[in-house]
Amino acid sequence: MPANRWFPVSLIASALMLASFTAAFSDDTAKPVPSPKTDKSGEPKIKAALAKLSLADRPAAAAQRYCPIMDTVRLGAMGTPVKVVIDGKPVFLCCSGCQDEAAEHGKETLAKIEKLKKATAAIAKLPVTDQPLAETQLFCPIDEGSRLGSMGTPVKLMLEGKPVFLCCKGCEDAARENTKTTLAKVEEIKKENAKAAPPGE
Ligand SMILES: [Zn+2]
Ligand SMILES: [Zn+2]
Repeated sequence: MPANRWFPVSLIASALMLASFTAAFSDDTAKPVPSPKTDKSGEPKIKAALAKLSLADRPAAAAQRYCPIMDTVRLGAMGTPVKVVIDGKPVFLCCSGCQDEAAEHGKETLAKIEKLKKATAAIAKLPVTDQPLAETQLFCPIDEGSRLGSMGTPVKLMLEGKPVFLCCKGCEDAARENTKTTLAKVEEIKKENAKAAPPGE
């Protein structure tokens, strides 16, 4: 029943138009209204949160990019990253909730940070347009748990028209062998990642 589907939509649209007209007429300063369709990646929010770190801390946080405790969460995604010092080394965490874990497992945390830095540098070698795609995936669908970038620049494949990133060349044959399974695994990984850090949260 197309009428039932379209009628409310047009109603809402006219209501919205009316509302914005009203706003425009009642606000003579006419400030630019933030678009409701802002970047769903949460990137502007992350940028703003990272900008609250001191200038001296920003390069280290950028090199790390992810929390060592919740390793799918970008630093800045949960507000200004929390800085702690372990064995004299600066460590950035996504939130204060990760502090105890980091302090309890200092050595593992520092080792994880070295891995994160390596992965961040490797992903940065991908073409700029591929980087955000690889970051929604973060892990290899073949070598489970293998972080993209942990074995050098990730390998990009197109399977059934969809981009798939692998940790290394060695995973390519297996990925191509059963494209359906590979693509399903990629979707599963992305869903898990989104659960840990909902975009814009
Ligand atoms: Zn955290
Ligand atoms: Zn691999």
